[in-house]
Amino acid sequence: MKSDLLIKILDRLEWLEDPLLCWGVIDGGFSTEELREVIDKELANGQEWDLSSDDVIEVMSSRALLVHDSNISPARWRTRNGETMRLLARLRQYFLDQNWQSGTNLISDFRYARRPRFYPKRDHSWVTALDGLHGATDTQRSVIEVMTQRDGQHDQLGGFQIRATRHLLTALQGQTTTATVVGAGTGSGKTNAFYLPAFSYLAGVTDSSAWTRALAVYPRTELLKDQLDTAFAHACRLDTLWKSMHGRSMTIGSLYGSTPTNAQNVRASYRGWGKRTRGMASPQMRCPGNGYSPCGGELIWPHEDIDSGVERLVCSSCRRVFDQGQIVLTRQRMQNSPPDLLFMTTEMLNRGLSDLNLRRPLGIDAPAGRKPRMMLLDEIHTYDGTTGAQAAMVLRRWHHSVQAPITFVGLSATDDQVTSITPEPEELEYEGAEYLLALRSDPTSGASVLSTTIQASMLLPRAQDEPGSRVSSGVYGTKAFVFTDDLDVTNRLFSYLLDAEGQKYSWGKPTSIKPPLASMRTLPSGGDPTQQRRAGQVWDLPSAIGHKFATKGEGLRVSRTTSQDSGVTAESQLIVATASLEVGFDDPDVGVVIQHKAPRGVAAFLQRKGRAGRKRTMRPYTVVVLSDYGRDRATYEAWDSLFDPVLPDLVLPIRNRAVLRMQATIAMIDWLTSQLRQQNIPKTTSAWMALGQKPAETFQPGRETQRKAAEILSAALRDPDRQRSLHIWIQNALGLTDAETNEVLWHPPRPLLLAAVPTLRRRLLHNWAVAGPNSVDEFRDLMGGNPLPDFFPMNLFTV
Ligand SMILES: [Zn+2]
Repeated sequence: MKSDLLIKILDRLEWLEDPLLCWGVIDGGFSTEELREVIDKELANGQEWDLSSDDVIEVMSSRALLVHDSNISPARWRTRNGETMRLLARLRQYFLDQNWQSGTNLISDFRYARRPRFYPKRDHSWVTALDGLHGATDTQRSVIEVMTQRDGQHDQLGGFQIRATRHLLTALQGQTTTATVVGAGTGSGKTNAFYLPAFSYLAGVTDSSAWTRALAVYPRTELLKDQLDTAFAHACRLDTLWKSMHGRSMTIGSLYGSTPTNAQNVRASYRGWGKRTRGMASPQMRCPGNGYSPCGGELIWPHEDIDSGVERLVCSSCRRVFDQGQIVLTRQRMQNSPPDLLFMTTEMLNRGLSDLNLRRPLGIDAPAGRKPRMMLLDEIHTYDGTTGAQAAMVLRRWHHSVQAPITFVGLSATDDQVTSITPEPEELEYEGAEYLLALRSDPTSGASVLSTTIQASMLLPRAQDEPGSRVSSGVYGTKAFVFTDDLDVTNRLFSYLLDAEGQKYSWGKPTSIKPPLASMRTLPSGGDPTQQRRAGQVWDLPSAIGHKFATKGEGLRVSRTTSQDSGVTAESQLIVATASLEVGFDDPDVGVVIQHKAPRGVAAFLQRKGRAGRKRTMRPYTVVVLSDYGRDRATYEAWDSLFDPVLPDLVLPIRNRAVLRMQATIAMIDWLTSQLRQQNIPKTTSAWMALGQKPAETFQPGRETQRKAAEILSAALRDPDRQRSLHIWIQNALGLTDAETNEVLWHPPRPLLLAAVPTLRRRLLHNWAVAGPNSVDEFRDLMGGNPLPDFFPMNLFTV
């Protein structure tokens, strides 16, 4: 039986159930006659003359898409969603050995909506992508031809992707800095709206020597790795074309914590590369295969190559080799031979501006014509509040250091002329369904709202498919995520959920110690279960799906993902998560997202919601559990705006004084670095380290650099020309007015010239000495390689 026929019938049945569910009536259903009638009509519409309605009922029952309830009179049929809703609305709190009648109702009311999912239509041929674009070349056409290829045919493109491609390629022809925002839902092809123009542009650059042409900046490494894989696959596809155009392959590199300084340094455990028999395994990317069908194998840097300083990765699965013609693995090589396309984190960009080792990959001091031309800022919604303001300032500092027109793609709060490209309403198509629910905890139950979240978390994964059998064939998922905004609640929730599933955490893993709480919803051994079933306290639906939960060891597999321990095991069914999972985690099995209490930010909530239903065929649930008080109550009353939010324009607090002063101090270090550079300091100086710790005894120039820095700072305090130079640098790097710059330089709190500069100068001159009662102790005032720990933190962005 064709699955799209089943989906059409399911859509129709759910559509008929919807009105009652929306009114809060959950005991309704279809009689067998009604069900046959609806299905016969759909079969006739689809001209399916060989099938009977009973055939369809049988198949849908076997996939647990339909369930039969014979405990009410007359007996009724419900869809899986209809039955899930009934069990959910009837959730009660009771414990092992307690009888079900004594349990208290947890949910006083709910709001429900089911709506079609929508996607940007892909109805444009790749051939039209560059139509009407002034100056489009055959090379650019070839790039788009290759990038859209799939199985001997071509992917169609969405209207917004084509508009973005033309817009960005036009912007790249100009000689001004521009900023463009491309906005579309997750999984809609937003990334290609950047990659198509970016790779077309790169292909057209005729100078084939080594310099960074484009940078892609990510708030978190998980997201960076994900996108690096995609970009590298595109580069592999384009390899033949690139070689014929440029006589070499395109080069890609990634710069963040796990990028080794040099080949030997890859063995340092803090870089995070895995020890294998043959070599070191890359934590940065997986094997792209031929670029069309990803291999996904682990990429190993063989020991013999590490020893001889040759950058080369070998796939442990398909044995493909990626050599230094395609990849740049170390910071040293990035400085000598920058990659065409560089991936990095915002944090790395912040620190890298005062690191002479990273000048060339960042495009600083590059000759005209060999400066970066594009910067991608991904998932800009994650930059909100002060983090967003910090990021905006870092970008300004970088832009100031590069001194060249840049085409920013993503969101740039640094520019007022931001253009936005999104799919138009008529460019969307509708398909499948999603279920949206707000549950209101019963304030009279005496139970906490956390109990409601726990019980909902016990039920919802069991209303999804059982991972071993997957009876719905992808209509439903196998995993649920639970999000809270409070780390403290996350930890408690994790231990409560483990307990509810009959487990406790010991020796680093969950161990079963008792039956799961859900075992109370299996059939009782004696007596008439009719009343219990009518009350929704026997979970027949999960049993029909294939879940077992009667005895010890049959609890759900629960795991947790926070910034402390990231990583979800493939077998997990219930995952407690905080912000670190919002972006860059695409698990196709996630069918449910549960949010405990009102979400703090709309953009973050949309990201979380987007974690479920990554496959178009899946019908995901988003469930928000709310208390009856405060913000939760307001959220419940305005629940439709929770699911259909108008995103507020992102107003970043870039005039936030604290952020401004922090960034001004970091910009002063950037300035100091540029001044030092003219005084023949070692070419490997990283200012944060060089000015923030005791130089090694064996490294003679170390102390010399510190003395030179102290001299420059002294000059800044008394020489008007030096002072003017610092003033102009801060003003331009942060995009401030003259008055604002004076404020930051001279007025409290922590004025740059009256506090930060003298402090650093004193520390450098007197070796971070702290005066004791009888002596002066040198190097006592140091703090972790940060030259001014009391003025800015080591990590601005790490979460
Ligand atoms: Zn491979």
